[in-house]
Amino acid sequence: MCGTQMQMELLELASSLISFNTVTPPGNEEPCARFIKDYLDDLHIQGAEVDLHNFAKDRSNVVATFGGSSAGLLLAGHMDVVPVNDEGAWTSPPFQAKVREARLYGRGSADMKSGLAAMLAAISSAKGRRLKRTLSLVATAGEEVGYDGLIALVDDKGMKRVKARYGVVGEPTEMKVVRAHRGGISVRITFEGRSAHAGDPSLGINSIENCTLFMKHLDVLRKRLAKTKDPDLGHTIVTPTMINGGSKSNVIPGSCELTLDSRVIPEIGSKTVIDGLNSAIADLSSRDERFKARLEVLYQASALSVPREAEVVKITESLTGSRSAAAPYCTEAPIYSEQGTPTVVLGPGSVKQAHIVDEYAPVEQIERAEAVYRQMIEKLCL
Ligand SMILES: [Zn+2]
Repeated sequence: MCGTQMQMELLELASSLISFNTVTPPGNEEPCARFIKDYLDDLHIQGAEVDLHNFAKDRSNVVATFGGSSAGLLLAGHMDVVPVNDEGAWTSPPFQAKVREARLYGRGSADMKSGLAAMLAAISSAKGRRLKRTLSLVATAGEEVGYDGLIALVDDKGMKRVKARYGVVGEPTEMKVVRAHRGGISVRITFEGRSAHAGDPSLGINSIENCTLFMKHLDVLRKRLAKTKDPDLGHTIVTPTMINGGSKSNVIPGSCELTLDSRVIPEIGSKTVIDGLNSAIADLSSRDERFKARLEVLYQASALSVPREAEVVKITESLTGSRSAAAPYCTEAPIYSEQGTPTVVLGPGSVKQAHIVDEYAPVEQIERAEAVYRQMIEKLCL
């Protein structure tokens, strides 16, 4: 097959994936998952087992394993995309991919359907060959809304068949190797007070003032957490991001909600942060019975920390000619790592392009991704 023909097939594959509206919520990934399954089934690769894992109505993950009896390579990515919001502002329709100026435009082109397409095209290189080690592909649903697809897959023991010593998640990294990122937590703290007329504040309990007391404790916790540093990721961050309290200008606010975002290094772990916040609340309530607050964890994602000397890091560094680094966002890679497969992040497109109007991935990077994944299959599975 000549180069141009291969390029066309790869871009057609990426465009087909983009044509499925997999915006989460609601997701609706099932038709996209079926398309991936059909594509992989049609390759008739030795020892292929391609399954859809349905975990909710119209929600499916794809789990595919090919040949080989010993642990090999896992290629992984997500099928869902973030909402379009401002469709009128797009130069071309977001779900009809278009190539302009050597860039592939469309919702999900960077995050991360081009990466998935490059993985699928690379897998086609195993067609008609004998695999020494298992090659696996996992395409997940619901990554953008808290990894609900992959969490369901792990809970249902759907990852059991996936035997891999090396893992790659194809999120957009401009084809540079990412082996570390902070974990993420989002929590909401509700301060419960008592409403009263502002003319006599002593009759009520001011929930906003209680929130302010908590903020002072938060500052102490942040300083304590900042003392532990990771060589790649720096220190743990806790940031108040939303506040909502009170109902009227002349009423003592009976309730106030504070939302915090935390980015956690592996040396600290999310439990330490949550415990720290809870003990600040406990401390304040023990000092004053008028202080009442409760904490809810809204979202939690693990940190990624694959050692620099891990084989998967060395292999991907040598294939891309890049030195591995840390990223400022969260991915599903820690979940695969927790399942026993050290997993790096490496894919086409830039995170700056993710989630925006006129999202694109450079065609050259999509092609490079396919070449790198193909070389990995060659080296680790064939
Ligand atoms: Zn993504």
